[in-house]
Amino acid sequence: MQAPPRGRSRPTVPLPPHGTCAVAHGFRLPLWPDSGAAPPSVSALLRGAMAGPQVLKHRRTTLERAEKFLSGPGFPDCSLRGRLFGGTCPLVSLSCFQTPQRIPYDEAVRQEFRPAKVGDSFGPTWWTCWFKVELSIPREWVGKEVHLLWESDGEGMVWRDAQPVQGLTKEGEKTSYILTDNLKEAEPHSLTVYVEVACNGLFGAGKGSLIAPPDPDKKFTLHKAELVVFNRDVHELLVDFEILVDMAKFLGEENQRSFQMLYVANQMVNLLDVTDSSTFPAVRHRASSIFRQKNGESQHTIHAMGHCHIDSAWLWPYEESIRKCARSWVTVVRLMEKNPEFTFVCSQAQQFEWVRNWYPGLYAQIQDYAKEGRFIPVGGTWVEMDGNLPSGESMVRQFLQGQRFFQQQFGKLCLEFWLPDTFGYSAQLPQLMRGCGIRWFLTQKLSWSLVNTFPHSTFFWEGIDGSQVLTHFPPGNSYDLKGRVEEMLKTMNNNKDKGRVNHSAALFGFGDGGGGPTQKMLDRLKRMSDTDGLPRVQMSTPDHFFSMLEKEKTQLFTWTGELFLELHNGTYTTQAQIKKGNRECERILHDAEVLSSFALTQKNTFQYPSIKLQHLWRLLLLNQFHDVLPGSCIQLVVEDAMKYYAEIRSMGGLLIKDAVRSLFGELLLTGPETEESLLVLNTLPWERTEVISRTGAKTLGAIADGSVTMENGVIAAHLDSMGRVMSLYLVHSGRESVQDGHCANQFVIFDDVPLYWDAWDVMDYHLETRKPVTTLLKPLAIVLTGSLRGSVKFSLQISERSVITQEVILDAMCPYLRFLTQVDWNEAHRFLKVEFPLRVRSMNATYEIQFGHLQRPTHWNTSWDWARFEVWTHKWMDLSEHGFGVALLNDCKYGASVHKNVMSLSLLRAPKSPDATADIGPHEFTYAMMPHKGSFHEAGVIHYAYNLNFPLHTVPAVSAQCPAWSAFSVHSPAVVLETVKQAEDRLDGLVVRLYESHGSTVVTWLQTSLPVKEAINCDLLERPDPSSHLPLEEHGLKLSFTPFQVRSVLLILRQ
Ligand SMILES: [Zn+2]
Repeated sequence: MQAPPRGRSRPTVPLPPHGTCAVAHGFRLPLWPDSGAAPPSVSALLRGAMAGPQVLKHRRTTLERAEKFLSGPGFPDCSLRGRLFGGTCPLVSLSCFQTPQRIPYDEAVRQEFRPAKVGDSFGPTWWTCWFKVELSIPREWVGKEVHLLWESDGEGMVWRDAQPVQGLTKEGEKTSYILTDNLKEAEPHSLTVYVEVACNGLFGAGKGSLIAPPDPDKKFTLHKAELVVFNRDVHELLVDFEILVDMAKFLGEENQRSFQMLYVANQMVNLLDVTDSSTFPAVRHRASSIFRQKNGESQHTIHAMGHCHIDSAWLWPYEESIRKCARSWVTVVRLMEKNPEFTFVCSQAQQFEWVRNWYPGLYAQIQDYAKEGRFIPVGGTWVEMDGNLPSGESMVRQFLQGQRFFQQQFGKLCLEFWLPDTFGYSAQLPQLMRGCGIRWFLTQKLSWSLVNTFPHSTFFWEGIDGSQVLTHFPPGNSYDLKGRVEEMLKTMNNNKDKGRVNHSAALFGFGDGGGGPTQKMLDRLKRMSDTDGLPRVQMSTPDHFFSMLEKEKTQLFTWTGELFLELHNGTYTTQAQIKKGNRECERILHDAEVLSSFALTQKNTFQYPSIKLQHLWRLLLLNQFHDVLPGSCIQLVVEDAMKYYAEIRSMGGLLIKDAVRSLFGELLLTGPETEESLLVLNTLPWERTEVISRTGAKTLGAIADGSVTMENGVIAAHLDSMGRVMSLYLVHSGRESVQDGHCANQFVIFDDVPLYWDAWDVMDYHLETRKPVTTLLKPLAIVLTGSLRGSVKFSLQISERSVITQEVILDAMCPYLRFLTQVDWNEAHRFLKVEFPLRVRSMNATYEIQFGHLQRPTHWNTSWDWARFEVWTHKWMDLSEHGFGVALLNDCKYGASVHKNVMSLSLLRAPKSPDATADIGPHEFTYAMMPHKGSFHEAGVIHYAYNLNFPLHTVPAVSAQCPAWSAFSVHSPAVVLETVKQAEDRLDGLVVRLYESHGSTVVTWLQTSLPVKEAINCDLLERPDPSSHLPLEEHGLKLSFTPFQVRSVLLILRQ
């Protein structure tokens, strides 16, 4: 029997000419096993439908018929979606109060609320509108599920009984707060709730496009606020239909299962009368009988984990992220109450700390679900930091602060590093992970690479020292899936190691606030748990997932070296002041720790400022978040970041002063400063000979054509009137550094117009627009002539709006020429670099990374080579052939490249989105050119780059008679003592961290004059290895290193 037509409209979409309708004569449908569990009347209904004389066999009309039936607009009278809500009822009253501040609930509810209504606008951007909602549920709704339906712009939080209870965000498909699942006669029908609406969207308030700078005057509208009866059975039917239709669609015409789904969906449309809920159970039964048809044993398994990627700041300021966390996580807690199988993974200790401080009630609920293993802290770091630019020590601190927080708050360390959204991953990370208790790594960002497709989904990632971590890239290429059929199929099909491993991860849930998973996503995934034709989908945890991968690891490939993202390479340069703040503050905290540690060992009365240092480190680590340090954030965030750097500079400076006073109090001058007697402090572990004063007399000659020669017996530089280095000669080896007929220190400017991601991307084609900067403003003039220091200065005009002024400095005995550079920068979409064409030939250049270095090709042979046309480095880079090379050192830059024999340092960009003011204004930075004999290792390039970044401290002192004092020395030049700090868990202990910097196997001595009584090996989390005590010998501690190995030692002090 054909289901009665019930007056339903036919699809009106015009069909393509080849679309002919075929009739399937005698097409009987016992294709699907009847469970037999249905009541007789239902079975009869089904049989009746199946026995219909004809079934349309036209795939497109059949499919579109089912889709139309599902969709809301168009045919609301006969579509299923139009039946989702039953009755509606207006609110009793609505009033509001607006404030430019983000204020606590207690303060908000004490304010004066004014009457408001649906349709009202509020704002502007970044304000908060608090709504007081008084409601009364009609008596006749007893037994029904009742929602407060709230559709407004902005991001909302419902407060009930002074507690946050539900996030509301249109973009996150969260517009309902469930007042009751099943209204009881006895429960109160009238209540008051508050809705706190932040005047920004899920992705900020970009004017016209996502990443445009925020529109400060945006208005936000309340579109709907009412009570509704929610028809749960309609919701369930909608999900059934959706899964069937999507399977029909995405399994494709080659797949017989696709047609089964199509005809079942069609049959369900025939059976269903949207106006008669008594027809629903039979239809649901039909769907579930299909979902119960199981896969074979070999089917791929997808480990679904709920997730809500929250950028700690990006298109909104840090403060808003605190509320985003609360809105999202309270929503997750509500879902957990209703879905016992639901698991949610959540990274970034900083965000937990925010919620702990600002939403203690919610935090307690989260801790309860964490105990159950369902709300799962992951990642082990303080924030999801940039993966390229933070120093080695900063990366250690990300883990140290993160893991210690997770241990203290949740009783366990994370076993996986979680960085799904960061713009490339340093080749030192595997070793740092292993040293911080981490075995596994998850990201998906490399799927964004523009040029090459990364060949693995599950593999071992091996760092420069040989450490390995089991790594997985969720093949859905996303961290915010919606739990759709299409995504699960993609996850399985796109797994590049299928056949080797039978498990993939899928992270689902809206990101960036108000978000996370929805009930609908969970309902979809439930239906896909084990349905023939689809991969198996199970709720899982990182521990379970990676344990399954470990069982299958024997066939996996290994990827050695960095995971380079072939996109977003502009982020090594954008927002130069943030980069400078990062490098400078890393140095300040290093020096503060070193000097405070020394003070601690010398004076019993000295209090190591551990709490202040932790506070400052956490500010620095927060600014390393993957949209802040890369410079891809709005102006408000830049202002916040600069505030934090200012705090580190000033408080860090005071800590250094305190330590110096404690160490040398009696020697310090208290009166007016004089340079006659200076105490010089070196925070690096090797002896240095440097010019610290500008007084003296000179070797410097000006030539009639305006050029100048500077020479110090080590190097001799010849500069033309534009400050370009025509020659840089290494005196004793008689080698010229600069390529014949070319000049180094050549400023060049490029058009810099990316396709979309303005602050993020510099595209390969920018290289075609290269223009040398040759407009001379002030020709080269001598500034200092001295036997200790000589310098010259010049100015160039970049454009009418931008000027470079540079002082080129040569110090006595110094092997490098230093370029102290000031740029007044006022450009749009232009990129400033400085070039050094060298008389050096090599297939590879060397770049410093965290605790080591790596090589990248200087040619563009393959797509993997030319995709790295713009790369990152830390304090130095080097181009060497056998016996000779040239290094380029810098004090705050990260973007770089070496193509053929031309070394380039990237200086300034001028993107306009998401911060229209990015990089506009004055800049100061230093780089240095260092020619050298032999290899860069032998020439001490690494030490000199440290020296440039860690200037000697000079303090006026009463007398120069103070004997030299050294706390530490390391015998091998290959081993760098990077860190000296108080141990986290032992007030009488110091932790020292050293690394092998040459890529060699070394045995060396660490000597110390400090009162050390015991030395124990420890890991990067400072957990001592009790079986690994180091004997204290006459020469100090004997330490052996493998290439690029990082070692930490706990030194227990004699009291
Ligand atoms: Zn992100």
